[in-house]
Amino acid sequence: MSNEVAPPTLEREDVHEIDDERFARDRVAVVTGAASGIGRATALAAAVNGLSVLATDVDAAGLAGTVERAEAIGDPPSEIGEPADAIEPFEADLQEEDEIQAIASAARNLGDVTFLANVAGLQHVAPIGEFPTDAYDRIQAVMLRAPFLLTRELWDDLEANDGCVGNMASVHGHYVTADKVAYNAVKFGIRGLTQSIAAEGEGDLRSFSVSTGYVETPLVTNQLEDTAERRGISVEEVVEDVMLGQARTKEMMTPAEVANLFVLGFSHLATHLNGGDLLFDGGMTLTYE
Ligand code: NAD
Repeated sequence: MSNEVAPPTLEREDVHEIDDERFARDRVAVVTGAASGIGRATALAAAVNGLSVLATDVDAAGLAGTVERAEAIGDPPSEIGEPADAIEPFEADLQEEDEIQAIASAARNLGDVTFLANVAGLQHVAPIGEFPTDAYDRIQAVMLRAPFLLTRELWDDLEANDGCVGNMASVHGHYVTADKVAYNAVKFGIRGLTQSIAAEGEGDLRSFSVSTGYVETPLVTNQLEDTAERRGISVEEVVEDVMLGQARTKEMMTPAEVANLFVLGFSHLATHLNGGDLLFDGGMTLTYE
């Protein structure tokens, strides 16, 4: 496995702190996929910014790692208190509707649910002709149905608290690559969900999506060898030619950089971001060689 894409460890100084009166411990941010990668970074960034975080994932050990990281970056304490105290881990499978309802209840027990970050995701690489139904259904359930169900369950809370839903999309919500049909379809879908929330939120409840190119997380690391094998090229060539080949900015984003976009989108600085997409792709989808 290439060391170039080993996921980096988030440090406190990587997190951008925004002075926002609503970033306080009586307000809750629900973050899915919080055991790893972008979700973990988003949970940590929300906690560093002063929010209480309901950090949920199906991976309990990974959630414990997120809490551990919060303890590690909690020293020295800042005015806003310890991030470690602010992260409540909650194990749940986003494929199950009753577990999604349990996430909503647990979040309400922490305070005023104001922010929802739908980040959890997975990948399956196969051509359409061979794409397994169960893989398609799992991707759809975790990455599109669950964000809808969570938004529905928390709608009244989010609306009452002038809240905001941030959805993790991707460059694959703008254009597509071969052999990722389910991922491509749900990423286009999550932009539709985002805009639907904006339409019905009537300005009281905002929404936005975040579209990045490749970010240094396990989701990417784990598909390198598979992609290399399918294309008959080396892992290094997958990184340089396939992943960053069309980007003008020749560096992968870090999970912390993506987490900072969620914090920005939730903040007062983004009052007019409603239904829009934060396309931070290094020029990948907007330029052509
Ligand atoms: P990751 O694999 O590091 O983390 C994904 C998390 O989702 C894991 O902790 C996993 O346990 C969780 N998850 C999967 N199935 C679940 C289920 N059934 N219930 C609850 N949790 C579940 O991946 P990542 O790279 O951090 O990706 C996070 C999001 O960012 C995904 O939506 C992905 O599509 C998106 N994204 C990633 C990249 C990238 O390059 N890494 C680029 C653009 C978009």
